Amino acid sequence: MSSAIKIHLPDGSVREVPAGTTPLDIANSISPRLAAASVVARLTPVSGDGAGSANKADESAEAAMYLAEQAGAPRLVDMATPLTEDTKLELVTERDPEALKVVRHSAAHVLATAVLELFPETKLGHGPATESGFFYDFYREQPFTPEDLAAIEAKMAEVIARNEKFVREYEPREQALAEFDRDGDFMKTHFVTKFTEPGSQVSFYRNGHFVDFCRGPHVPSTGRVKAAKVMSISGAYWLGSEKNPQLQRIYGTAFFSKKDLDEYLERLEDAKRRDHRRLGKELELFTVSEDVGAGLPLWLPKGATIRRLLEEYILDLERKEGYEHVYTPDLAKVDLYIRSGHWAHYHEDMFPPMDLETEKMVLRPMNCPHHILIYESKPRSYRELPVKLAELGTMYRWERSGVLSGLSRVRCMTLNDAHIFCTPEQIKEEFSKVMKLVERAYRDLGITQYSYRLSLRDPANKEKYVDNDAMWELGEQVLRDAMNGLGLKYKEARGEAAFYGPKVDIQLADVMGHEETYSTIQVDFHLPSQFGLEYTGADGNKHRPVMIHRGVISTMERMTSYLIELYAGAFPFWLAPIQVGLVPISERHTEYATKVKAELQAAGFRVELDARNEKMNAKIRDLANQKIPYILVFGDKEQEAGAVSVRTRGKGDQGAMPLADFIARAKGLVGSMSTEL
Ligand SMILES: [Zn+2]
Ligand SMILES: [Zn+2]
Repeated sequence: MSSAIKIHLPDGSVREVPAGTTPLDIANSISPRLAAASVVARLTPVSGDGAGSANKADESAEAAMYLAEQAGAPRLVDMATPLTEDTKLELVTERDPEALKVVRHSAAHVLATAVLELFPETKLGHGPATESGFFYDFYREQPFTPEDLAAIEAKMAEVIARNEKFVREYEPREQALAEFDRDGDFMKTHFVTKFTEPGSQVSFYRNGHFVDFCRGPHVPSTGRVKAAKVMSISGAYWLGSEKNPQLQRIYGTAFFSKKDLDEYLERLEDAKRRDHRRLGKELELFTVSEDVGAGLPLWLPKGATIRRLLEEYILDLERKEGYEHVYTPDLAKVDLYIRSGHWAHYHEDMFPPMDLETEKMVLRPMNCPHHILIYESKPRSYRELPVKLAELGTMYRWERSGVLSGLSRVRCMTLNDAHIFCTPEQIKEEFSKVMKLVERAYRDLGITQYSYRLSLRDPANKEKYVDNDAMWELGEQVLRDAMNGLGLKYKEARGEAAFYGPKVDIQLADVMGHEETYSTIQVDFHLPSQFGLEYTGADGNKHRPVMIHRGVISTMERMTSYLIELYAGAFPFWLAPIQVGLVPISERHTEYATKVKAELQAAGFRVELDARNEKMNAKIRDLANQKIPYILVFGDKEQEAGAVSVRTRGKGDQGAMPLADFIARAKGLVGSMSTEL
């Protein structure tokens, strides 16, 4: 029965090997170093030739597992898996993004091994890999204490040091269920019942004395989990029901090396330090009141200063680019949104309508219809196009309470919005002008890390989108051409389009690498036709304009949250809510300090004077904690000379200089929007 099978390697070569050969054998035959570096193997069935069908008769448990898999799709297998059919084979090393998931899931087995060795009464749930690590669900009456978690982490290190092989074993399903039942393993009983077929062989993995119901794959041995750490613990009811026992979910993470783990932990610390919710409170930027409601932040004076500066900045830039600013109301009749299509495609994200006398009103989820009505308010000629209507438009979206977060996920937001109404011939130029505007704004705000995404509709979920295939294809083509024309790299994302058309999103990543959309540009053929928009062309006939929806610096809420985290609250001089702190050394210097304050304010700076009867160092410390860019200190010497002693954020004492010189330097920083001091 040991027939030969053909293994197709990524370099195009084909090896003929006896059935039962493992990926590890093949890796070793290429190079022992490659074998040592390989985590798992990726198999893709060789389509068409049917040569493998003879092996289907082989009733090995492995074949049974194959049959349960999706035919034709690539799948990951252990390095020790016997190969029984012709297949394409790719050795997966650390460089492959999938490899880390395998390491992390294997680390979940190591965690469960450690828990059972220390607390044998524990019952096991399951332990998948997650975005940032893994978890394992446990049932144990007593809660795990912080000391228990430390002991578990130490035991995990022992399990890793023992370098136990992960060995796959099989057992008839009914026998496995009987054993789990006998041992009171209610969660395993549930998983086996749910995920395996009656009469089948059930797959287990053993490392040392520990055995777990699992389909794999895993790293070859526990020693390949090079760096693992227990992160946290939380409670959850089994299957999400309060009637069920409460589980303890232990979270951990794992990496290929101690260095990677340490870097991750450092990033995590950095993210905590930058968290805009924490800094928003500490620096008195915004607050959320129970009495107002979740997701409806209140901007405190210092946060409002940042927002006002952002608003002034972008309004000014837009004026120079030929945008006309308008004001429109935050609500409208529901009929307007029925006409625009928002009601059909977007009402789940809207606040419910208000019944008023004979009308139904809704809070607007987008500003587009209002701007369309302004375009429509008079006849338009091709000579006026493009018409660019802009507004800092406030909108309302119903976000579930679970996803609300500080300023970054809110229910009421003000968007730096604009709608460009243009001829089809103008799309390309207008699109590229918007892209340049975005890049200019990012440069001015000090944002350097971003990427482009072409967001397309999800063809499997068509009812979420306007039904017009030709229009979608045209929109996608226009955006692709425009991006390619600008030579910009982008990735495509299905299911991220607006309901009325595809868009280009500009994605910013936070410290932990999570990406969010901040700026968008959308080409829209739908709303102009929905509203019957027109302009008179050079030929004297009526034509339909195209709409470009665009947001350059996002919502004021989201951009402020991003900038707080980008600068960790230490804003560039032009954007700092308080730019200069003043510290008179003693009471007799307060008069001079007050005079300096007036002079700085007259020059346009935001100043805070600490005239308390406190020690100088205490006053400097309190101002420094607010991350104020400059602190000026006054004593007898400075007073006599008309000078100021300058302390620069992050640089310390810079010595004395004439007040006029300081003002000149500070004006220069505002003018250049410098991120340096
Ligand atoms: Zn597993
Ligand atoms: Zn719009």
